[in-house]
Amino acid sequence: IEQTALQNDKLAMLGRIAAAIAHEIRNPLTSIRGFIQLLRPYLLQMGKEEYARIILAEIDRANDIIYEFLNSSKPSAPLKKAFSINLLIKEVALLTESEALMRNCQIELQLEGDEYALIASIDMKQIKQVILNIVKNSLDAVAERESDDIGIIELSTRADGSYVEITMKDNGKGMDKATLARLFDPFFTTKEEGTGLGLSVSYRIIRNHGGSIRVDSVVGSGTSFIIYLPLAE
Ligand code: ADP
Repeated sequence: IEQTALQNDKLAMLGRIAAAIAHEIRNPLTSIRGFIQLLRPYLLQMGKEEYARIILAEIDRANDIIYEFLNSSKPSAPLKKAFSINLLIKEVALLTESEALMRNCQIELQLEGDEYALIASIDMKQIKQVILNIVKNSLDAVAERESDDIGIIELSTRADGSYVEITMKDNGKGMDKATLARLFDPFFTTKEEGTGLGLSVSYRIIRNHGGSIRVDSVVGSGTSFIIYLPLAE
C-alpha cells in the first residue's frame, strides 16, 4: 500500500492546524491553572479542596495530551546516526514486555546476527517510535480478537541486499479491506481511544529515512508489517 502525495500534504496541513490549535488552547489552560491555585485557600475553607486537586489534575492531563499530540503529529527532520536495528528491536521488546505479559501475549525475536549487526543510518528515537507504534497496535489487535489462545508477536530482522528488512507479525484480529485501504490516513482509527496518528506518522518517518513500509493482513488470523530501511555503507 502506497500513501499518496495528497495524503502526505493532508497530514502536513493537519499537523500545522493541530499545532496552532494546541498552542492556542495551552494559553488559557495556563491561566485557568493559575486562578485555581489562587482559589485553593477558599476551597479549603469550604471543605472542597478536593475540587481544586481534581481540576489541576485534569488541566495537567489536557496539557499532556496536547504535548503528546504535538510531538507525534509532526516528526522533525531525522538526526541520523549509525545504529544496530537488532539492538533497537531488543529495546522495543524490553519496553513492551510488561504490557505483553498483562495481555497474555508473547513477544518472540528472530534477529539475523547479534546486537551489533544490521547497522543503519537512522534517527534512533524516530525509528524506535515507529516500531513501538506497530508493536502497540499488535498488542491491541491481539487483545481485541475472539480467541483465548496466547497472542504471539514475532519481530524479525534480516539483510536483503543493501536494505534491512524488519518484519512485525501478530496473530491478532487482522484487518478487512476497508481498514487496510485507510490505515495510513491521518486520524483514521477504529479504536475508541485511538488518535489515528501512529501509522501516518510512522509512514512519514520511514519515508524520510529513504525506506518503505508494507502491510499484509487477514481478518481473524493476523497482520504483518514489513519495513525496509537502507543499511549503512
Ligand atoms: P490508532 O492506533 O490510534 O488507532 P494507528 O494509525 O496506529 O492509530 O492505526 C490505525 C488503525 O489501523 C487502527 O485503529 C486499527 O484499526 C488498524 N491497525 C493498525 N495495526 C493493526 C494490527 N496490527 N492489527 C489490526 N488492525 C490494525
